[in-house]
Amino acid sequence: MGNLILETRDLSKQYKSQWALNHVNLSLQQGKIYGLIGKNGAGKTTLMRMIAGLGFPTQGSILLFGTENRSGLEAAGKRIGSLIEAPGLVAGMSAKENMRLQCLMKGIPNYEIEEKLLELVGLKDAGKKKVKNFSLGMRQRLGIATTLIGNPDLLMLDEPINGLDPAGVIEIRNLVKKLSEYENKTILVSSHNLPELYQVATDFIIIHEGEIRQVLSHEELDDRCRSYLSLEAVNANQLTAVLEEKLRTRNFQVMPDNSIRLFDFLDERERLAQVLHENDVILTKIAVCGTSLEDYFMNVIGGNKNA
Ligand code: ADP
Repeated sequence: MGNLILETRDLSKQYKSQWALNHVNLSLQQGKIYGLIGKNGAGKTTLMRMIAGLGFPTQGSILLFGTENRSGLEAAGKRIGSLIEAPGLVAGMSAKENMRLQCLMKGIPNYEIEEKLLELVGLKDAGKKKVKNFSLGMRQRLGIATTLIGNPDLLMLDEPINGLDPAGVIEIRNLVKKLSEYENKTILVSSHNLPELYQVATDFIIIHEGEIRQVLSHEELDDRCRSYLSLEAVNANQLTAVLEEKLRTRNFQVMPDNSIRLFDFLDERERLAQVLHENDVILTKIAVCGTSLEDYFMNVIGGNKNA
């Protein structure tokens, strides 16, 4: 178990009659990339805003780096970098000038940091080009560079790939991975697109209508979305025996209804059927099954909290 960076306890936020966050209990471990996935209006931005101290929770508490009291939270807040709304960049300035301004505003004027961060996000050579002439991807990367001033431990990026072209998406994805791998940052990154987050996150937090519906690791998600062959036979024991002895696989699960989930031979179904037939196994069903990431997500937010 890694170090705990952040914990929320029954965190709730009410806007007029609506609960944008409802008893959110989360723990974030150091060094992981958390994909916060939810449809528009699910509460992603509100959660990030509360953690960043940009708004007050109606109920509940946030423990940052193990501290909850106000002065402690302020110090802890400095260890958070966030890109929640559009980055506050000045369009008429270059990348370097924007970095200088942000460093001054944060009280950390330091040429070395500016250079290092621009290099880290791949904008070292952006030269005198003004931000108004940047691609959206370049702006996002510069925005991320500004969040890194002060060397925060926790980074929160709200929908950083929204509106980017495919090349821009890849740039941001690679940058997020780099920040995690080489800089050991803990990253909370939101999106409404699970397949997109799947490419970058180590863990997933599924939020819907202000509630956390599920938290799961990449491995667990893979497991739940794995494709398999669903097999049914007149004699299930005979089927499993042939799978093990003749087809040399144990990569299957026997389900309570005696059907079998086989995770091999997906591309060799003819051979599988033939060998089973040769060994007198009478199949009554053979079907390719599995859940796509999108289906899985829809299933979880569709109300089944244990999907
Ligand atoms: P997401 O980031 O997942 O799209 P938000 O956190 O922005 O979701 O919004 C969650 C819910 O809270 C939405 O229904 C939204 O309309 C509402 N909401 C967000 N901010 C405000 C606000 N300042 N005033 C009133 N309602 C808000």
